[in-house]
Amino acid sequence: MHGNLRPFGPTGVQLAPIGQGTWYIDRSNRAAAIAALRRGLDLGMTHIDTAEMYGDAEPLVAEAIAGRRDEVFLVSKVLPSNASRSGTIVACDRSLQRLKTDRLDCYLLHWRGQYRLADTVAAFEQLVAAGKILSWGVSNFDAGDLRELLKVAGPGKIACNQVLYHLRERAIEHAVIPWCEAHGVAVTAYSPFGHDEFPAPRSAEGRVLQSIADRHGATPRQVALAFLTRRPSVFAIPKAADPVHAAENAAAGSLRLSADDLEAIDQAFPRGPEPASLPML
Ligand code: NAP
Repeated sequence: MHGNLRPFGPTGVQLAPIGQGTWYIDRSNRAAAIAALRRGLDLGMTHIDTAEMYGDAEPLVAEAIAGRRDEVFLVSKVLPSNASRSGTIVACDRSLQRLKTDRLDCYLLHWRGQYRLADTVAAFEQLVAAGKILSWGVSNFDAGDLRELLKVAGPGKIACNQVLYHLRERAIEHAVIPWCEAHGVAVTAYSPFGHDEFPAPRSAEGRVLQSIADRHGATPRQVALAFLTRRPSVFAIPKAADPVHAAENAAAGSLRLSADDLEAIDQAFPRGPEPASLPML
């Protein structure tokens, strides 16, 4: 896993393809959730994704990364309703406090809301100048939103676009991934297991994944993560509140699928036509 790093957009930071999500992690057994995040860190999943929206996830992450802050690529998000010029600064300070740290590695606009992109971007740039965030990006932006954002921000500023991407939801392959690759923006795949809809083992799709997994001595979830991160521009952030799950996910970072494997997955989980609007959770 450690030998499999790739550049995270224009940040200059190299990250493993698989990181760790934290939505609803505060609803699980707290000790197990913290152990899962730490196990993930031990295994190279240093990209930890959280958000002010995720209840008590930020304080839980603070506890998990205590004493290990320098190992972590820490990402949090501002809610659109807070993303005014001044509100973004206040929200960031609050997240820093809750995370018990002095900086975020990347700060994202959670989705596009009522405030002008120029206002949020100005706040992000102010936070960069103050050293409170090292980079910034967006989430749930379609290609049209990204084009607008690029006009406001200029090239080389947008670190990533975090978007819904799993085997049954491949909409971003149409326009979002090509746009991001053309502009050096990292793509972070959220809900890579479909949140809670991973194909059942006995379903036809589940059997396809199992047969590929068997060829590699891997698991169906590892096959899914390897498929989603098959392009070097894409990172995935599965959430695991169980250390055994975290270890399984981390090992996916070194799984290489063959052209035949990719073709079989493509057949079992067809991309489908481009939807009118970008799907999100
Ligand atoms: P997900 O990662 O697709 O799936 C999480 C579920 O998979 C949990 O029930 C988890 O169980 C289970 N799981 C994980 N690893 C497993 C394994 N190896 N074996 C069996 N079960 C496993 O769902 P998600 O939480 O929606 O998405 C991931 C992250 O993306 C979020 O946590 C969040 O950080 C981010 N996200 C961002 C947005 C956005 O708008 N930007 C939206 C949604 C999500 P356990 O917890 O019991 O291990």
